[in-house]
Parts: sequence; structure tokens; C-alpha cells
Amino acid sequence: MESIRELYRIGYGPSSSHTMGPRYAATEFLSRHYDAIRYEADLFGSLAATGKGHLTDKALREVLGGTGKSVTIIWYPEVVKPFHPNAMTLRAIGPQEDLLGEQTYYSVGGGKVILEGQQSLPIKRTYPQYLSKMKHILAYCEKEGIQLWELVVKYEGPEILTFIEQIWTVMLESIQNGLNQEGVLPGGLKLPRKAAKFFVQSKDLVGPVGTPARALSYALAVAEENAGGGKIVTAPTCGSCGVLPGVLFYLRNQYKLPQVKILRALLTAGLIGNLVKHNGSISGAEVGCQGEIGVACAMASGATAQLLGGSIHQIEYAAEMGLEHHLGLTCDPMMGLVQIPCIERNAMAAMRSLDHASYALLTDGRHKVSFDTVVDVMMETGQALPSLYRETSLGGLAKTRF
Ligand code: SF4
Repeated sequence: MESIRELYRIGYGPSSSHTMGPRYAATEFLSRHYDAIRYEADLFGSLAATGKGHLTDKALREVLGGTGKSVTIIWYPEVVKPFHPNAMTLRAIGPQEDLLGEQTYYSVGGGKVILEGQQSLPIKRTYPQYLSKMKHILAYCEKEGIQLWELVVKYEGPEILTFIEQIWTVMLESIQNGLNQEGVLPGGLKLPRKAAKFFVQSKDLVGPVGTPARALSYALAVAEENAGGGKIVTAPTCGSCGVLPGVLFYLRNQYKLPQVKILRALLTAGLIGNLVKHNGSISGAEVGCQGEIGVACAMASGATAQLLGGSIHQIEYAAEMGLEHHLGLTCDPMMGLVQIPCIERNAMAAMRSLDHASYALLTDGRHKVSFDTVVDVMMETGQALPSLYRETSLGGLAKTRF
């Protein structure tokens, strides 16, 4: 399993696979072919199907065309490459219209990019192979008497605390920026931002309605910031980036938690997301929204259980519920924008995270379906989903008219 540094990425929305990944690929390609006269980009599968709404073309033009060179983008939504539905081929063209270089990239989710020819290269392991399943991690933690976050520090090194502090700082900024913004989000949906209004209204609400309204507004703030192309942290993706910071900020304020506790919860959440990424997928184009919002909810549920004093088994149970109760969730964004259903889904998943943690904390942590099992089921379900529901905007909500 890789470092959680590969999971939490700081970048600009609206999509980790369709915006951040292509931006990274273009930067890598440019570093090798900066002397080209012009560039071409073939976009395949989901990258082509929802690339316009997800601003893939804008990301490529900004990087490759940054020095005034032309960038031709050719869309092939019907061509799906066998390795991954998010594929793109970049070409550098010389002065005689000669081909200076060509490279195919796969944007496999969460901003990670794999180059053609490198699919089978071994991943850079931070954790030993025998700790690549939750059940082995739990057994190890039991044996050593340590918490999940301590296992992360043990294998990532103490420097991970500095990294995670930076991650939390950007998460806080994204909440604040989102709460300060008003107006309509870019794209054709004319969707107004709601976070600022919800936050103000939540101050007038008391009791069981008021405090959760605050958590909703925090999750919305980050999701709206992402939809507007703002700076966020993938947790585990751009589309699902509001769930974890929304919940953590809410709990911090509600229980007056010291920062160190939040940082440790972020480490545990990173471990949970990493396990899904390693054994399953966090790509909406591959497994639908269960791999994005479902995983974000699992991360936030586990983090909440930890912050509220849960054992490692209760944390595992909460995380399992976060994913289990999003099984089958489709990815069908309207107009290919990361707005409907994505933004509300962040807020709803944030609320569910609190419920999952409460439920798990009422138990002794024993339950029937393990986290590892639900990850396998998510993969199986995702592969059974028709491509209409895997980030192509060809079915479901994406087909509705308003
Ligand atoms: S529906 Fe879910 S998976 Fe699809 S773009 Fe929106 S947040 Fe991402």
C-alpha cells in the first residue's frame, strides 16, 4: 500500500480524475516536449464523456497552451480503453508537422496518473504487504497495543504529522473560502451556492436541527468551493472532498477538540481511504459514486468514531457502514458538472458519518460484514454497473431535464 500522501492531494477542483490528473499528465508531458510547436490531446471514455463539464479541456489548455501554443482536443467518448475508462493520449507536433512525442496516460482516480507501459510496475510501498487488508491491520494493532493512527505514524514516519497538518490547514481554508462565497456556480446549471446561507441560518436554529445544520454548511462549503474550481484536498477525490473536512470541523467546534486529535483522525481516515484505493477503487468512472462519496463517508465515519473514543473495532465498523450504505451509488452528474448530485451528496454523507459513528459506538465493535468484504463487494457492484452510471453523464440524473 502506498503512502497516504498519495491519497490526500492539494489541488484545484472540480475533479481529481478529470481535472487534477490531466493537469498532472500535461505537466509531465510538457517537461519532455516543451519544444513542440503545438499539441494534440485525444480524450477517451469517461474523460471525453464528462470532460467538458469537469473542465478537462481547460486544464490541458492552461498547461500545454500556457506559452501561447495551440492545443487541439479530440473527444472519443465511445472509445473505452481496457485498462481504465479515463484515458488520454497527448502528442507533441514539431515545425514540419512531425511527431515529436506521444504518450498515453490513465487518470485512475484521486488525481493519480499512470503512464502507458507502467501499468504493471510495482507500486511504491510504504506499508508491508502483510498489512494491506483491514483485518491484518486490526490484528497487528491488537498485538502491538497501538491505535490505527499510530500504525500510520510507524510506517510513514513522524514527518507524516507535518504533512497532515498542512492538509488540515488547506481543509480549513477551503471551509472558510466556501463560507465566504456567494452567487451562482460556473457551468450551465445556474446552481446557487448555499453554504454561506445555511451557515448563517444554522445560528438561529437550536437543538437537533441546529447543530447538524452547521455540519451541513461546512461540507457544502468545501464541495461548492471544489465545484467553483477552488483549492481543496482530495479526500479521497475532488467530488467527495467536502465530507471529511465538514465533519471534522463540526466535531472540533462542537467538542472543543485540540488540533492534535483532528490530525490523528485524519491519519486514520487516510488509512481507511488508502485501503479502498489499494484493494478496490476510488474512481467514479470505474465503480460509480460509491467509490467517491461512499469512501469519503467511510473515512469520515471512522474518523468520527475515533474522535468520540471508539476502539479500533468500532472505528472499523463505522468505516464499514460508511461504505456499505453507499453500495450501488451511481455517478450521473448533470451536464457533466461536479454539482448535481455531487454537492448535496457531500452534505448528506457528512450527516451519515455522524450516524454511523453513533451506531458503531453503541456496539462492542463486533459485526457480520467486515470492511474488507464490503470493499470487495463495492468493486463487484461497480463492475456490474452499466457504464451509463459510471461518470459518463449518459444515464440517471444526467438525463433529466429541468
Ligand atoms: S456523482 Fe459522485 S462520483 Fe460522480 S462526479 Fe459526482 S461526486 Fe464524483
